Amino acid sequence: MKICVVGIGYVGLVTAACLAEVGNQVVCVDNDSEKIDKLKHGTIPIYEPSLTEKVKYNEQRGRLRFTTKLKEGLDNSLVIFIAVGTPSGDDGSADISAVLSVAKQIAESITDYKIIVTKSTVPVGTSRKVTGLISSKTKVTFDYVSNPEFLKEGAAVADFMSPDRIIIGTQNKTVRQTLKQLYKPFMRRRNRLIFMDPVSAEMSKYAANAMLATRISFMNELSGLCEKLGADIELVRQALGSDSRIGASFLFPGVGFGGSCFPKDIRALAYMGKDNGLDMKLIHSVRQVNDVQHERFANRVIDYFAGRTEDITLAVWGLAFKAKTDDIRESPAVYCVQKFLDKKIKIRAYDPAAASSALKALNGNIKTLPDGYSALEGADALVILTDWQEFRNPDFEAIAEKLKKPLIFDGRNLYEPAVIKKEGIEYHSIGRKSVMK
Ligand code: NAD
Repeated sequence: MKICVVGIGYVGLVTAACLAEVGNQVVCVDNDSEKIDKLKHGTIPIYEPSLTEKVKYNEQRGRLRFTTKLKEGLDNSLVIFIAVGTPSGDDGSADISAVLSVAKQIAESITDYKIIVTKSTVPVGTSRKVTGLISSKTKVTFDYVSNPEFLKEGAAVADFMSPDRIIIGTQNKTVRQTLKQLYKPFMRRRNRLIFMDPVSAEMSKYAANAMLATRISFMNELSGLCEKLGADIELVRQALGSDSRIGASFLFPGVGFGGSCFPKDIRALAYMGKDNGLDMKLIHSVRQVNDVQHERFANRVIDYFAGRTEDITLAVWGLAFKAKTDDIRESPAVYCVQKFLDKKIKIRAYDPAAASSALKALNGNIKTLPDGYSALEGADALVILTDWQEFRNPDFEAIAEKLKKPLIFDGRNLYEPAVIKKEGIEYHSIGRKSVMK
């Protein structure tokens, strides 16, 4: 099939590469000419496991092309995916101006029938807005589909190639068949398509993200109580997760969620409620608990050093909002580091993929190091903020030796307190008793 993907970010590039991988001809359109230039020269602008190989392989075989010109992408393509960003506006609503601008340009450029598919996360009812906008600007026939994306950064390619489900929001039976054909290669073991109307499809995306964020905030709120009462949140997590009605996913306590989706989608859902006369109490609480969790962890580190007159230096492991990504949008790690900097604490940081973007976001006020162990040199403590695999089984002896004092604040509960105790390291984690030296 001939496809055009507009908006070549985390979602658009993965969508384009995976659709090309199964034999489709895909034209990638983005208005960021620097990004398109990089892609044309074989540089992948984001870090996402196995994406580089897929992009290069399919580009070399002529199935993936990059351009800034929408018209080039539209000509000959039957299906047009819109995957541009929908960031939070000042009032918390999702800003869909990029989606509307692309829709308008599509309407002004198409000369034959198209299926226009929105992958971006858009407020419930956007389908009506986009359809109305396009119809008002062209006489060319088109169909509209809401096809929200559920991939996770860090596992985006794997998620796209083998999704839990694919939501197709359209009532049109012929269009359903076309998209079924397009997605068939990704459903070889079982059917993963769920058909519905566009409005329910749009709501499904917000519902999924809100549910996942709720589980995290639930665990984080309990972790605070566990600390007060002497319970161990990790044991509680196991007990909860083993209940088949609850399941074990997304029950990890930590420094709180971040990223480009959960925080903004929670805000957008709350805004949609307000806009419709509903106070989304649970959704507001999910957000408040998350803010408290970032704050509580950062303050715990800051308070530990209260009263110290000498300079404090912290080694920080992890700046990305989660493992396996270079994305720092609303990263709890960046939030905590900024709080440390506000207290004049010096930061020596290491992140396998997000160091340069975090350095920029923090105005060059941290020192980034090429590996975790050099970040420890002369630091007063190690603070773990992202759950990268490579932090899970470190050389504790080297950690203790390089730090001024063997002291770890772990915002991701990566280690067993009993193991740390044997290593002679003071250890503070989330929702568990601290290990004192
Ligand atoms: P992103 O910021 O990484 O990418 C968006 C791209 O769109 C950028 O390259 C930008 O230059 C381009 N763009 C913006 N306006 C444009 C225009 N008018 N014409 C052409 N290109 C334009 O965003 P993302 O993380 O890929 O997210 C895209 C959408 O998908 C959002 O709505 C997001 O909520 C949703 N989503 C994201 C994820 C995720 O994990 N990142 C997962 C599921 C859904």
